Amino acid sequence: MNTIWILVDGDRQIGAARKALGDLADSAAVLAVGPRDLAETAARTGAETRWADPGDLPVEALASSAAELVAQEGPRIVVAAPTSGGRALLGAIAARLGAGTVDGVLAVRPLSDGGAEIERSGLSGRVVATLRSAAPLCLFVDPSDAPAPAAGRPGSLDTADLAGNGIVRVSVEDAAGAGTGVADASRIVSVGRGLRQRDDLALVRDLASALDAEVGCSMPVADDLGWLPKEDYIGRSGQHVSPRLYMAVGISGAPQHLEGIRDARTVVAVNSDPDAPIFSRADYGIVGDLYEILPRLGEQLATR
Ligand SMILES: Cc1cc2nc3c(=O)[nH]c(=O)nc-3n(C[C@H](O)[C@H](O)[C@H](O)COP(=O)(O)OP(=O)(O)OC[C@H]3O[C@@H](n4cnc5c(N)ncnc54)[C@H](O)[C@@H]3O)c2cc1C
Repeated sequence: MNTIWILVDGDRQIGAARKALGDLADSAAVLAVGPRDLAETAARTGAETRWADPGDLPVEALASSAAELVAQEGPRIVVAAPTSGGRALLGAIAARLGAGTVDGVLAVRPLSDGGAEIERSGLSGRVVATLRSAAPLCLFVDPSDAPAPAAGRPGSLDTADLAGNGIVRVSVEDAAGAGTGVADASRIVSVGRGLRQRDDLALVRDLASALDAEVGCSMPVADDLGWLPKEDYIGRSGQHVSPRLYMAVGISGAPQHLEGIRDARTVVAVNSDPDAPIFSRADYGIVGDLYEILPRLGEQLATR
């Protein structure tokens, strides 16, 4: 198989990409776009690494010239994480190569005809699909399960001078009304697919506000439905949180979700299914319809 490129703008992505690529990773080149430490970590895995320093520019500004650089070697496979930077870079490269993009890639196997077979996860992890392609592919690999990048033989580290494409960062400010996010929150009200529609998030926000809590969610609420930011979903591939109070509303308690709340102190679950696995992790459980329970909890809290 021809050249393979791994694009990284964060540490965890290196291990994830190597895991998905298996033996193919041994011959992969890396383009690291970010701080020099990132490129040094990549080079320590044995990869021939090129480092582009974005400086004050957003990663998106370097996408066009990154695409030119990568395309010069006519790669069969290019891998990135589905971060905003990874999407910008891989999108530009896919367009430049005329390659298809595949999301949620778990494993890549080379085929004897020079093509590749891809395993990808779908429907929030409920299915694994196998795809084949003889044409170049741009693949998104989730850094969720990422093993720490293992040191191998020392690889080379060169600088890549990537020109900006005209996008500049004017300012970065906290969004009005935005919370501080779930990462360091001491109280979290988290919502799952038990919620019927986006507008009903108001119920969850009201309760969170009464508890002075941040709003989080299960993966499908952010990833499939797009109702909340991806930064706020909790679990194996999302945030690992350690709040004093974690309230899971309409969340079944899949093992991948529970991994993210391993360090939560007190867990309260609201679920209409008495057999929902979340109750095995919960300190307090309320079996019932969240549409009845949440307003009642809000009323109780208001009287205190
Ligand atoms: C590699 C991989 C990584 C993953 N990483 C994550 C991750 O990081 N985080 C994550 O969350 N998931 C992750 N998943 C997905 C995970 O397996 C589950 O699919 C997901 O957590 C389910 O989300 P949910 O609980 O919101 O939805 P569901 O499983 O659909 O559960 C909805 C729950 O709501 C309850 N409900 C329905 N209506 C009501 C109501 N009116 N009132 C009260 N309760 C109600 C139901 O009884 C049910 O228990 C991952 C999967 C894979 C394969």
